[in-house]
Amino acid sequence: MRAAEMRAAAPLVDAPHSATADEVLVALRSDSSAGLTPDESRERVSRYGRNELPRAAGPGVLRRWWNQIRNPLVLVLVAAGTTTLAIGHYVDSAVIFGVVVLNAIVGYVQESRARQALDALTRLVRTDCTVLRAGQRHTVPSAELVPGDVVMLEAGDRVPADARLLATRDLECDESALTGESLPAAKTTEPVPERAPLASRSCLVHSGTLVTRGTARAVVVATGLDTEIGAVQGMVAAAEAPPTPLTRKLTKFSKQLTVAIVAVAVVTFAAGVLRGSAPVEMFIAAVALAVAAIPEGLPAVVTVVLAIGVVRMSRRRAVVRHLPAVETLGSTTVICSDKTGTITANEMTVVDVIAAGEVYSVSGTGFSPEGELNHRDSPIDLLGHPALVECLVTAVLCNDAELRHEQGRWHAVGDPTEVALLTVAGKAGLDWTVLRRNAARVDELPFESQRRMMATLNRESDGTVIGHAKGAVERIVEWCDSAMAPDESRVPLDTDAVLERAHTLAAQGLRVLACARFRPRDGTPALDEQDVRGRMMLVGLIAMHDAPREGVVEAVAACHQAGVAVKMITGDHPETARRVAAEIGLGARGGEPAVVTGAELAQLAADAFDVAAVDTDVFARVSPAQKLDLVEAFQRQGHVVAMTGDGINDAPALRKADIGVAMGTVGTEAARDASDMVLADDDFTSIEAAVEEGRGVFDNLRKFITWILPTNVGQGLVILTAVVLGMTLPVLPVQVLWINMTTAVVLGLTLAFEAKEPGIMLRPPRPPRRPLLTTDLVRRILLVSAVLVAGAFTAFQLQQHSGHSLDVARTTAINVIIFAMIAFLLSCRSLERFIAFRVNWWLFGGIGLMVLLQLALTYAPVMQVLFHTAAIGADGWLLVLAFTALTYLVVELDKALWRHKDTRAERVTVQQGKGHRHGTFRR
Ligand code: ADP
Ligand code: MG
Repeated sequence: MRAAEMRAAAPLVDAPHSATADEVLVALRSDSSAGLTPDESRERVSRYGRNELPRAAGPGVLRRWWNQIRNPLVLVLVAAGTTTLAIGHYVDSAVIFGVVVLNAIVGYVQESRARQALDALTRLVRTDCTVLRAGQRHTVPSAELVPGDVVMLEAGDRVPADARLLATRDLECDESALTGESLPAAKTTEPVPERAPLASRSCLVHSGTLVTRGTARAVVVATGLDTEIGAVQGMVAAAEAPPTPLTRKLTKFSKQLTVAIVAVAVVTFAAGVLRGSAPVEMFIAAVALAVAAIPEGLPAVVTVVLAIGVVRMSRRRAVVRHLPAVETLGSTTVICSDKTGTITANEMTVVDVIAAGEVYSVSGTGFSPEGELNHRDSPIDLLGHPALVECLVTAVLCNDAELRHEQGRWHAVGDPTEVALLTVAGKAGLDWTVLRRNAARVDELPFESQRRMMATLNRESDGTVIGHAKGAVERIVEWCDSAMAPDESRVPLDTDAVLERAHTLAAQGLRVLACARFRPRDGTPALDEQDVRGRMMLVGLIAMHDAPREGVVEAVAACHQAGVAVKMITGDHPETARRVAAEIGLGARGGEPAVVTGAELAQLAADAFDVAAVDTDVFARVSPAQKLDLVEAFQRQGHVVAMTGDGINDAPALRKADIGVAMGTVGTEAARDASDMVLADDDFTSIEAAVEEGRGVFDNLRKFITWILPTNVGQGLVILTAVVLGMTLPVLPVQVLWINMTTAVVLGLTLAFEAKEPGIMLRPPRPPRRPLLTTDLVRRILLVSAVLVAGAFTAFQLQQHSGHSLDVARTTAINVIIFAMIAFLLSCRSLERFIAFRVNWWLFGGIGLMVLLQLALTYAPVMQVLFHTAAIGADGWLLVLAFTALTYLVVELDKALWRHKDTRAERVTVQQGKGHRHGTFRR
């Protein structure tokens, strides 16, 4: 219905690719330099709908039910149910089918909840775009775009809607999402023939594709379902939880085990019948065995546990995009983080401006332009400082940021570094709106972290065109041939003095930018590097402060204690980086951290590079390509690397890293696409939090699996032993079903809600190749299984010997198994320690519920009929109590032995690890 409405309203322009840009603008009643008015855009949203694709509901309800039912255990159960029906055991048959249905319901609900949790996360990270409204740049959610909106695109952006290009600069788009073409397509504003195929419509950009290079201005021609991608895809698939390495392994493990168990069951049946037992009895035994031993719910529960982890991480502002990241985070050994914006707050404030050798200090904080410039401790009069004015004018013109006063507050749009430049100009008394109006930009060389500078050409009102540039000091100075004197005249440049000055400022932790002027070469159509190389005149330096974020010092310390190395990687000046690194506690205790620059890295041979990667904490003036080299160097040495990035050039490093981390507020869509995790607030502390949560999730998984396996192994052995020894079954198939279905959900799953153990960040990272179940845990599982087998048999035999009925004996055996599992559950709250006394209400609630269920099973007449149980007396409970206590004791004893062994191993580790700061892993 909705889609039909939208289609009826479109298209506003037929074949926008064959019309000129101006024709398209006229048809859309828009304007290239002003865009739509806010009123018009609001009106169009109600007319054309929001720029969104409807969400697909994921696999249909029926499909999801079928997924629950088609697992092998259910098939075994259905076969068993049918057979029991055929031989006239109606009650058993009803119970079995009841369990099948119940199992499917529980599985369905769990899966739906996990899916909802993951779905909610995709909404946490918004996609914004830059749009012109009434002549001003605004950042708006992409969903609010309407036909006629003029959008600004740059490398790394995802194209938010189908749009006709109005102006381009070196524009290239990766359209593989739409056309399947993997090479980037070059784009211009030239119209193409009307019949040109989609891939050749080079004057259009399409929703969902990525800008890989250059910049552009374009007018939106179609949104939502009217876009090409909307037409092809119709809907966006709901977030699907992909299988993680762990769930994949467990699924495989379960499958193999199922096959083996079914084989054993078949052999048991055949052997029993051949030996002369009644086929019905043997069949029941075989079914019991299969039901008891197949770990049906394992992979599903693991997914649920991971999803709970995802939710916990999102509470700490780390949004996991791929489920496997939850597993990997726990074993992270190196975190490589950007400096600007991740470790620091990205709240740039200019503190010093240096023009023509004179220093001007700036007061005031934040981006509101309230404060003043002082020269030799006294306020300045702009007229007396022409070089200062020229420097600030360049800083304003060679600048894409906007700063507006609206409803009593200042609003900033754009790169904080550039916003800070507007702020300082405002403090000096300059009006950037007027400056920009009087010197319209005619061309630009956008900032690229590779080039570390930006340049623009601006036409003054008298028609002369002047070039303005700003960027990293070394870069600008390298390309300058002169400097501006106090009287605005051109004088020779003292490179060393300028670099020395920049060094001094950087050593205070300040980010330093140089501003320069140049005259464009005659007759060249477009600005390029040749216009600025060796042709610029330095006009000044601007130094800005950017404090570390709150909590970063603590987070870095926590990482170090946890054996996780923290590396700072930045495009900024080495001295700035060193200072900030020292402030947040990187580097040797008390001393200044060592810094290696990108240029130095480039000189190193492969081996030396690997050594430098591990031994250095701070990397400055690093290019995105070197980030990839660093990731590979760490991985070669067995590290598990988390790497942050924001630009499109960072995408390869993010993909290669074990955990690629992108930014939720700044940074490009391209980086987010390549990442496993997005930091909602760009905050470093969220990475540390995610590592911590990752460890917690992994712990809980181990606890759950350690706890659940003895039920399968133990019960399987009970039945197998009974059959092999030709004894009466101590537990019937329906009773086994009861135990398996209730305990996993009522008891086991509550371990997923266990809080993190204290000291979780005091131990070294888990070696990535260590299996989930170490030999110690396997031993414990077998131990508990043995206790369960002994308990079930002993209780069963003793009860029969003292003259109780078969049903009473069986009921006692079931209670022994369940209560022993409760004792084991309490023990499993910590696999190493004595016991955790923190309250996990889920767990205690689960135990309470389980006890009630057992009382019902034992005493309620209905249950007695359904499950062949009978009321047991004090002697029965005494047995239950005895084995519950025994289980608990055995496990705690095992833990104590383990701890003893571990402390010895640790002592050895500590001795060997001396001298390495992150020695725990380097072994
Ligand atoms: P970081 O890792 O700190 O984010 P960047 O790669 O963004 O580093 O920037 C590297 C250098 O480029 C900075 O030290 C600064 O001198 C310069 N720079 C940063 N932003 C801009 C900009 N918008 N325009 C010009 N130069 C810039
Ligand atoms: Mg940056």
